[in-house]
Amino acid sequence: MNSLWYAFPLLNIQLEGKEFMFPDVSQWPPYVLGAMIIAGVAFFAALWPKLNVLRKAMHENRWDRLCDRFRNTLWIAFGQSKMFKDGSAGWMHALIFWGFLILLFRALHFFYIGLFPYAVIGFPGSEVIGGVYTWIKNVVVILVALACIYALYRRLVTKPKRLNLSLEGIVILVLILLIMTTDIGFEGARYGMDQFPERKVLYEDALFINYWTHILSILVFLVLLPRTKHFHIITSIPNVFLGNVTQTGNQLHRLDFEDESKETFGVTRIEEFSWKKLLDFHTCTECGRCDVFCPALNSDKPLSPKQFTIDLRDHLNAQTPSLLSDKKKEESPRPPLQGGHKIGSSVTLMGGAIQDATVWACTTCGACEEECPVMIEFVNKMVDLRRGLVLTEDRYPKELGEAFKSLETHSNPWGFPGTQREAWAEGLDIKQWDKNNPTEYLYFVGCNGSFDNRGKKISESVVRALKKAGVDFSILGNREGCTGDPARRLGNEYLFDMLASQNAETFKEQGVIKVIVHCPHCFNSFKHEYPEFGVKLEVIHHSELLADLIKENKLPTIGGATNETVVVHDSCYMGRHNKVYEAPRDILKAAVSPDAVKEVETSRERGTCCGAGGGGFLMEETGTRISHNRVDELMQANPDTIAVSCPFCVLMLEDALKAKNLADRVKVKDISEMI
Ligand code: SF4
Ligand code: SF4
Repeated sequence: MNSLWYAFPLLNIQLEGKEFMFPDVSQWPPYVLGAMIIAGVAFFAALWPKLNVLRKAMHENRWDRLCDRFRNTLWIAFGQSKMFKDGSAGWMHALIFWGFLILLFRALHFFYIGLFPYAVIGFPGSEVIGGVYTWIKNVVVILVALACIYALYRRLVTKPKRLNLSLEGIVILVLILLIMTTDIGFEGARYGMDQFPERKVLYEDALFINYWTHILSILVFLVLLPRTKHFHIITSIPNVFLGNVTQTGNQLHRLDFEDESKETFGVTRIEEFSWKKLLDFHTCTECGRCDVFCPALNSDKPLSPKQFTIDLRDHLNAQTPSLLSDKKKEESPRPPLQGGHKIGSSVTLMGGAIQDATVWACTTCGACEEECPVMIEFVNKMVDLRRGLVLTEDRYPKELGEAFKSLETHSNPWGFPGTQREAWAEGLDIKQWDKNNPTEYLYFVGCNGSFDNRGKKISESVVRALKKAGVDFSILGNREGCTGDPARRLGNEYLFDMLASQNAETFKEQGVIKVIVHCPHCFNSFKHEYPEFGVKLEVIHHSELLADLIKENKLPTIGGATNETVVVHDSCYMGRHNKVYEAPRDILKAAVSPDAVKEVETSRERGTCCGAGGGGFLMEETGTRISHNRVDELMQANPDTIAVSCPFCVLMLEDALKAKNLADRVKVKDISEMI
């Protein structure tokens, strides 16, 4: 032992040239190996069925845009960027995560010296590298131990509402703490042996205890990983890599209604989710960040995005043996699903693991996705389940029956005759689109701007602004139809397909390329969803166009002429879903004054939904109204005006102001009405 030194840091520092006195470790390798084999078998026994289900699940391509994926992985997974929105708890988690990365080498070295106690590894510079690593490692061990103590304090004392305070979480934290403290103990014993040879036996015992507690804690941790929510430690980085980088309208895609082998559409059973969505379920850390900003949960609806994910994960775990059973596969009366899944059949989801009301409560606002640190997606799952309910099980809130019928027969959700669509434009001297003599832009007005009395006023002010700036535009008039957005978000994909196909045909036939919209839902649909219908439009939201026109001095504003205070409300479909935040603010700063434009805490990425999205404006709402909560938030800025860039937000917020007797004091205006 006297001449023993190792290239790796654990034992390679020859303190002041003194000799090591190391306990006789020659008996250790078989025990270390045995413990590793037992833990490894237990680990893979739990991991394999989960991987096997993913391997055989429905296909979905998540291997595009690799550069964006690597950037996301570096920034969100390794950089822990989403965690820092969350103050001290975020730092705590980031420290533990980064610590794990650094201590991974330390753990490997612990096993290495147990298996090969007399091995010598050396390479040029290994002593320097080992020394530097040891110092970093020592600091990290202390920081991770402190972070664990803080995490335990939160779980046992402060108990934040968003966390699930399970025993499992505490056990895992205690294990991590043990791994850290035994690392310190091991180092201390080694130092003691070196410095105090007279107490050799004592330090040998300490070394022995710390070593074995350390590696057994790691192995128990490993065995628990695939059996608990801490499976996310394995799946988080891949899940971020495979997350939504494409911003394609919530990653919703057309269904093939021509496929005669299909008996179901949408998702009615867990195996009808794609492999990526199943991976999402396994990745939930149960941190509850999604819950904090969910407008549905915060207005007493039966929807908690965290619980939704946990319920689906538990259901998936419970159904895994059945999904992998050959017998079940043979018994399954259903043909293979589109996408070629090769797993068996499980029980119906809706009304079992997930309640219908949960799915209908979602506004598809995306606040949960914005917060989720491991990039779990919700909106596409909600729509998948709604599709299953509407298309396969023919079950939906009764008020939607009328809306679906109106969309089908009149191409608007309220049943106004399609022949009345262009009536709002009477007397405004607006050109009709002529394919032989097209204008630069088509102004696509949308159902709200064409039929709703308040919406028509917004269309008029958009027209006034466009004319004032000399924009060359025309409208389709009665040839326009609903984009289909509400039908798609409400799960009626068949109806959406029909409406989108009709509009797409019109665009193709009329040679439309550049489209102005003032509705964010039309914007999102055209931009991300219409390419699957064969039209690639240059779609521009009026806030973006008007902001550009002001910058180019083509549109005069009356900045500073009033002293009103304006608070900005971001629409989910322009903001979170399309990342347009600056254009409306630029307009307001020019139209009022930079100082008069106020923000509330819940704005931009954290802006709260008004409740209209996801077809919410067509459904009856239970509990507190989402729009009332939003008005309460906006009133914190004590505004004279709430400025928005979505006609549906205008309706929801105006109604809420009326209900709260604030309508005389505060106005809601579209961006175009501010100019
Ligand atoms: S999309 Fe919005 S409403 Fe739906 S679960 Fe997420 S936060 Fe809640
Ligand atoms: S879905 Fe994401 S944000 Fe919500 S609890 Fe799970 S990990 Fe946390």
